[in-house]
Amino acid sequence: MKQREDDLIGIRKARFASFVLLIVCFAGLFVILVLSDAGAKAYISGVITLAILVLCWWIYYRRLLFSEAAFFDALTTDMLAVYNWRLMLETAVRQIEDGIIVVGENSEVLLVNETAKALLAIVEEDLDEGRYDEHAEGFSDKLTREAILAGGEEGRPPERIEQGGRHYRIGYVELAQEKGRRRGAVAVITDVTEYTNVENMQKAFVANVSHELRTPLTSVKSYAETLMAGAGEDPEMLQKFLTVIVDAADHMTDMVEANLSWSQLDQTTYIEPEESDITELVSRSMSRLDALASKKSLTVNRMFPDKRCPVDMDERLIEQVISNVLGNAIKYTEEKGRIDVDIIPSQNCVQIVISDNGVGIPEEDISQVFDRYFRGEKSRNRAVEGTGLGLAISKKIVDLHGGSIGVESRLGRGTTVTITLPVSKLRGASGIE
Ligand code: ADP
Repeated sequence: MKQREDDLIGIRKARFASFVLLIVCFAGLFVILVLSDAGAKAYISGVITLAILVLCWWIYYRRLLFSEAAFFDALTTDMLAVYNWRLMLETAVRQIEDGIIVVGENSEVLLVNETAKALLAIVEEDLDEGRYDEHAEGFSDKLTREAILAGGEEGRPPERIEQGGRHYRIGYVELAQEKGRRRGAVAVITDVTEYTNVENMQKAFVANVSHELRTPLTSVKSYAETLMAGAGEDPEMLQKFLTVIVDAADHMTDMVEANLSWSQLDQTTYIEPEESDITELVSRSMSRLDALASKKSLTVNRMFPDKRCPVDMDERLIEQVISNVLGNAIKYTEEKGRIDVDIIPSQNCVQIVISDNGVGIPEEDISQVFDRYFRGEKSRNRAVEGTGLGLAISKKIVDLHGGSIGVESRLGRGTTVTITLPVSKLRGASGIE
């Protein structure tokens, strides 16, 4: 554009100079021929000189006209390019997932893209009627016109805000200055909820893994040191300490396995289910955990239907769910407590309900129990071993089967986990009940 401006000034200067030159020549000839006593010959040669002069001027002037036409041609092409570029930018800005707000140097709102309009709950009429700030303040006071201009001018680093359960980052950029004059600022609003969740999850992971590994590692070290110091010579002590070391190693293995299991499941988007009897599978899982329940003298009741309950499932995964949920019921129930396992078939689905009369879950924790690495404070304080992954893994597996899992609990009274799975599509086909 600067080049075009220079071209135009050049053409105008040349045209002006040519006119001035022509006038000067006319005036010169007029002075020489009219005011002096020149003869007829001089007149003729004067007129011929004038004609040659006008012809030269005309040739030069035509060239100027051609350059001017070329200049306007080029200008039209430039304008078309600018127009297309603007259309492209407008479409991109409108469609972009980030919210964009542009404020001019005089605090006028120049642009609010569709995402920003949706976030600020603002429509075109509100902008026309100058109600921008009202809406912006409803979202965040960091997005008023004044805040955006100040943010751009100061080159303020991006700020994080939380609104309606989502996290946003607001960045400010000053519009390119023109000849030292400020032209306004832009605010860019990015939804960073997913990123923040991953960040929080990573923090929870580090906190949880370090917490869960520290205890068994300390046990392994201190018991091994005691054995080295001579305690190992007493066979009874040796047996006792080695058992503690093996238990600690088992817990660390569980931790690693749960993490591996989660990372595998995290990548999984579909399963290849096979029709199988859920009653039999739950019985099998219960038998596996019998020893743990007996160790705490827990009473485990079952109420199963007499007939088969066919479910399309990946047996290995569903068994993992039952073990996790039943394992929790055993872990979080005091000695001599009670656990009920019911299987309730219905027309389209089957429910597996596992209830305990254990420690229960505080109301404020219930919504988080399916989050990765979430461990209730109570479970930590009571030093109940766990990974914080059991229910997250269970939910992922149940979701993959097209089912659902829910928790109801009362602190100090007990917990009920209900797993609902769709019955097999083959149910009712010959040979299958
Ligand atoms: P963890 O390895 O900690 O048991 P889970 O994902 O299985 O991890 O469970 C998450 C949290 O939910 C537990 O730390 C615990 O606070 C709570 N919880 C789960 N099941 C029960 C239950 N039956 N009784 C009491 N609290 C439970």
